[in-house]
Amino acid sequence: GMPEWRTPDPVALYAQAQPEKLACVDLATGRQWNYRQFNGAIQRTVSALASLGVEPGQRIAAIARNSADLLMLQQAAMRSGAIFVPINWRLSRPEQADILAGCAPSLLVTDEDIAGMILPRGCKDIAVAEFREAVARETPAAAQPLPPADAPNIILYTSGTSGRPKGVVITGRNVFATAVNFGVLGQVGQGSVFLCDTPMFHIIGLITSMHSPLLQGGTVLVSSAFDPMTTNARLADAAFGVTHYFCVPQMAQALRGAANFAPENWRSLKALFTGGAPNPPANIRWWLGKGVRMVDGYGMTEAGTLLGMPLDPALIDAKAGSAGLPAPGLTMRIVDEAGMDVGAGEVGEILVAGPNVTPGYWARPEETAKAFTPDGWLKTGDLARRDEDGFVTIVDRRKDMFISGGENVYPVEVEAALNAHPSILDAAVIGVADEKWGEVGRAFIVLRPGCAVASEALVAHCAGLIARYKIPRDYVRIENLPRSGAGKVLKNELKRLGLSSATTP
Ligand code: ATP
Ligand code: MG
Repeated sequence: GMPEWRTPDPVALYAQAQPEKLACVDLATGRQWNYRQFNGAIQRTVSALASLGVEPGQRIAAIARNSADLLMLQQAAMRSGAIFVPINWRLSRPEQADILAGCAPSLLVTDEDIAGMILPRGCKDIAVAEFREAVARETPAAAQPLPPADAPNIILYTSGTSGRPKGVVITGRNVFATAVNFGVLGQVGQGSVFLCDTPMFHIIGLITSMHSPLLQGGTVLVSSAFDPMTTNARLADAAFGVTHYFCVPQMAQALRGAANFAPENWRSLKALFTGGAPNPPANIRWWLGKGVRMVDGYGMTEAGTLLGMPLDPALIDAKAGSAGLPAPGLTMRIVDEAGMDVGAGEVGEILVAGPNVTPGYWARPEETAKAFTPDGWLKTGDLARRDEDGFVTIVDRRKDMFISGGENVYPVEVEAALNAHPSILDAAVIGVADEKWGEVGRAFIVLRPGCAVASEALVAHCAGLIARYKIPRDYVRIENLPRSGAGKVLKNELKRLGLSSATTP
């Protein structure tokens, strides 16, 4: 038969090709590894996994902050044929237990006190610190062939923005494709230095920010947690020479708000990449005005990096609001309800296919079937339009769109209009039932400290920016929008929210 393509192992390659090159720094502890040392440490981790009785195909879960140990664990799991499952440490214990029950790991590595937590049968737990010591005692395993490229490598859970998080199976082929796709769009190379403080349980944290530079022989700076002051300082530190930083728009906002914000000192930074949630054009231009190329990109756990803005400041300005051009290693279509491709300027759902696309959700065949068209395209659930030059703008999630008087309303657009009001700090819009119009918009607004504004003034403000049918009917003042750990507004929670807990402005 045909020879099988196996999962690529760039760290093993660079251990021979550029052994002295700095591969990884653990910022919390200051430990660092060149590629030869990093490869050896991963081989010791392979031995430690064997000592712990982990077998190929078994799951290794982690509930832990980012660390080099966790990255080496992932690399060792891949080499052992086991499946790495990083779990969001911000979730509640019952939510974590639900995920553990679903993926049934044989080992849980954690930096938390999990006393009292019920683990699936046969699941051992070990503290990260204890695991690190166990690894240090081992001798490196002999080099082994990697699993076939279509074997599951990682299970990453979606952010749970629209419901319960779903476990996405990510194969070696998927990891490679996303590392390449972001590598091309983000101009990643041997000289790239990534600051990684987006969590590793998120596709941006693990694959885009860590595997993309490792594939190119660059350097990964692993940070245990995001802290705006610390991140600002690291971006300005010439000793680190950070070239790439990828975060969600909420994190970029936090950098901007911190006392030590001085982007003029981010000398080595090529671009500040954002993705995962909408980034309004005014915001992108504000950063450009500060001399920072803010590069919006679009992707999802199920398919990795899909779109990215070129790093050219003139294009970033001209196309602000767009998430850029499709990555090279995938095929993207934008289709109408009937599955027909729409023309330039028209809104439709994004479908994708390619080596980046997951084979499906872990142990959820019905949900997997629903996620694909009969002919095998992944339905992203996101609406978008493409302009004459091929730049794609994400319009909204299909589920969040509502219809008022027969017209489609995309809340993201309405939110951008509200956010442009000087008294508004944050805004979210949902559709609510209305006898006359079918549905109308309800806005939830967070005011800037010390500000007040009447509903009528907001209606007048919106009237200057968006069509009449898009203007929200009522305005609910709220202290904070419910957001996920990744900074996404939880619209389901807003829909459930009784209005008694909020007051109109
Ligand atoms: P769940 O699937 O559990 O509801 P989620 O979709 O938020 O959660 P992720 O896979 O982490 O989980 O996020 C991918 C989604 O984030 C995309 O489908 C899209 O809706 C949104 N998104 C990603 N990048 C952008 C962007 N640049 N602009 C707007 N939305 C984006
Ligand atoms: Mg999703």
